[in-house]
Amino acid sequence: MDGLCRFSVALVVVCFLTGCGVRGELASGPAAAVSSAGGPAVAQVLRREQALMGTRFEIQVVSVDERVAAGAVEAALLEIGRVEALISEWQSTSEISEVNRQAGLKAVAVGPELYAVVEQAVALSALTRGAFDITFASCGHLWSVGKRRIPSMEEVGECRAHIDYRRIELNEARTIFLRAKQTRIGVGGIGKGYGVDRAASVLEAHGITDYVVDGGGDIRLKGQRIDRPWSVGVAHPRQQGALLGRLHLSAGAVVTSGDYERYFELDGERYHHIIDPTTGQVARASVAVTVIAPDAMLADGLATGLFVLGPAEALKLVERLAGVEALVIGPDMRVHTSSGFGQFFEPNRD
Ligand code: ADP
Ligand code: MG
Repeated sequence: MDGLCRFSVALVVVCFLTGCGVRGELASGPAAAVSSAGGPAVAQVLRREQALMGTRFEIQVVSVDERVAAGAVEAALLEIGRVEALISEWQSTSEISEVNRQAGLKAVAVGPELYAVVEQAVALSALTRGAFDITFASCGHLWSVGKRRIPSMEEVGECRAHIDYRRIELNEARTIFLRAKQTRIGVGGIGKGYGVDRAASVLEAHGITDYVVDGGGDIRLKGQRIDRPWSVGVAHPRQQGALLGRLHLSAGAVVTSGDYERYFELDGERYHHIIDPTTGQVARASVAVTVIAPDAMLADGLATGLFVLGPAEALKLVERLAGVEALVIGPDMRVHTSSGFGQFFEPNRD
């Protein structure tokens, strides 16, 4: 196949009650409480979708009060939009764009959120020994899938020299300085996870205890879907629509990074959007990685970093991390899982 492909959903939340694929629809379940009017209140699932952060966000919440549910979801979607404006390197007015413009020149004062996201990104770089590195963006423009162009060895070699997370200088006065003039940062490998976590916090602040926030495969969930656990399908990376299995968990995040979400093919080679910082080239050590972690920002960054590391290194690292499990598919399509992954995973028997 030769063409630009964009599968919007890497992971699908599998709905158990009929009709849950309808936009903004309410599905009712068994009576769960007493309404303020004194009559029986019925728990319902409110589901809404919106295009945000370059993907399709879907939020599902369970509530006995339709107005509370609608208000919570509305606020969560607004929050994602706010985060998008804050961390997008494409919007010239964003703080991150200013940090990039001032590379090699001066430190830029940033708000607490961008500072925290970049701080977490740098910590993930240290953890993955540079496999996750937001200065990948120094080479990112070369590999934009929209361009469908393979850069020359010289171009890659030149920009590769500017990738190094140790050039990001964080100052406690909350400034960020990129020490080299041509170094750039981009938080595409972690920002969606942050948006998902923020949306989850907003839902919880509205009193919602059962929800799923799905940002195109970056998922954070809690509780259950009325009378059944939430279930997250793990997509087969080469068979569209097919599942490798399902994950069941009652709280936490599930994030997948794959070479099948954003890519183009040229001369039989697949060029996707994850870059190996050591080469400046498209990462080839994995085909897909699914990470379970307590929060979506960690899961998101790890999924990207583990993808670059490949199955053996990735799982060695995961075994050292509390509360983190992973499934890694190598280039030979062999599936590798961490020791605790199986307790959440129900493989597809088809
Ligand atoms: P998606 O955002 O499509 O779900 P990922 O979470 O794997 O997928 O993130 C891929 C994005 O991460 C790329 O589009 C790019 O912005 C960024 N990225 C690519 N390579 C790296 C890397 N080695 N380290 C950090 N971020 C990266
Ligand atoms: Mg990621």
